Amino acid sequence: MDFDLTEEQKMIQDTIRKFATEEIAPVASENDKKAQFPRDIFLKLAELGFMGTPIPEEYGGAGFDFISHAIVAEEIGRVDSSLRGTYSVQVSLVELPLNKYGNEEQKKKYLTKLTSGEWIGCFGLTEPNAGSDPAGMIATAKQDGDFYILNGQKTWITNAGIADVAIVYAKTDPGAGAKGITAFIVEKDFEGFSTRDLHDKLGLRASNTGEIFLEDCKVPKENILGEVNKGFKIALGTLDFGRYTVAAGCVGLAQGCVDICKAYAKERIQFDKPIASFQLVQQMIADMVVECEAGRLLVYRAGHLKNKGLPNTRETSIAKYYCSEMANRVAYKAIQIHGGYGFSGEYDVERFYRDARINTLYEGTSQIQQLIIGAFELGIRAFT
Ligand SMILES: Cc1cc2nc3c(=O)[nH]c(=O)nc-3n(C[C@H](O)[C@H](O)[C@H](O)COP(=O)(O)OP(=O)(O)OC[C@H]3O[C@@H](n4cnc5c(N)ncnc54)[C@H](O)[C@@H]3O)c2cc1C
Repeated sequence: MDFDLTEEQKMIQDTIRKFATEEIAPVASENDKKAQFPRDIFLKLAELGFMGTPIPEEYGGAGFDFISHAIVAEEIGRVDSSLRGTYSVQVSLVELPLNKYGNEEQKKKYLTKLTSGEWIGCFGLTEPNAGSDPAGMIATAKQDGDFYILNGQKTWITNAGIADVAIVYAKTDPGAGAKGITAFIVEKDFEGFSTRDLHDKLGLRASNTGEIFLEDCKVPKENILGEVNKGFKIALGTLDFGRYTVAAGCVGLAQGCVDICKAYAKERIQFDKPIASFQLVQQMIADMVVECEAGRLLVYRAGHLKNKGLPNTRETSIAKYYCSEMANRVAYKAIQIHGGYGFSGEYDVERFYRDARINTLYEGTSQIQQLIIGAFELGIRAFT
């Protein structure tokens, strides 16, 4: 077992940390307040190769490993969870499944546009009445000659309103449950495709979230991702990628809270002493550090398995479950250390606290992660 980062991973960490500190952090609060997506920063990240971190170079990616992918998510998440969310969707929920399940033509056509930042992607699985149970979706896709005609609605889709391409799931065999779902690559300009933005979110305000409407949406049959009726497996495989960067982003959020709190605790004077000198404040800092470091190790273990091409659903779920709950506990303590000031939008920990909340909900709630882990341990699936 080797706990050291390689020289390449250290170089990636230095580069993304510098960029996050100098370019993302200074505008994160303003973007959050204005609920605006920083496309300029997104493009700069792409120029640095970070919109295709683990994608092969032949498709415009950087060709780095999965630990590097986690490092990038962590360092962006350390300063801005909204942008980390965009990174996760672009790379983990769109590019990685295209790379794994797409054919050569699809990879050449779509991956290069996504890794360069020219195009933004989104992942459309959730429907108004199908969240934790995506197999209960009602969107349909019917073949009509060389096309499939899609009808349905997707909701809570990150990037929906700014995406050029969406991987959308629909039922090609509605009577077959999970075995009747197909994944489609849908361009925003395809006939019958439209979106609507969702507003007033608790957190991730600088990240676009919206709904997708499919009204007789015409998708050429060559845009099927994988095979007909094999889409549910692709969705689950995609979530193994996505949960990994959610977990890494949570480690980053927690580390951001630790860094901010250490500085604040040394500056803030009460009882004629910095609050850092009080044992109960040190206890909070110690707990935050321990939880953050434990989470990082869980993420790297999942990444290690991904690098080796070994099964990692269990380890990814463990990392996602622990890190998302951990980020909430750490952000809670970060507010506590800031006292009343932590309750103010002028302090970053307020944004971190709001942004932490989504992580136990999306890409499978904590309860769903518990059921996945439970099924591995007990050999009994609590859901069908
Ligand atoms: C900001 C944001 C961005 C998102 N981005 C995307 C995206 O890009 N693409 C996408 O497809 N989706 C996205 N989602 C949707 C997200 O993945 C779903 O919200 C999530 O899967 C939960 O589904 P739900 O909201 O319908 O909750 P429900 O499934 O209705 O769950 C409600 C509660 O019931 C619990 N529950 C449900 N089933 C069980 C069970 N069997 N056992 C125990 N408890 C259970 C849940 O844990 C939860 O506590 C996003 C959501 C948000 C809020």
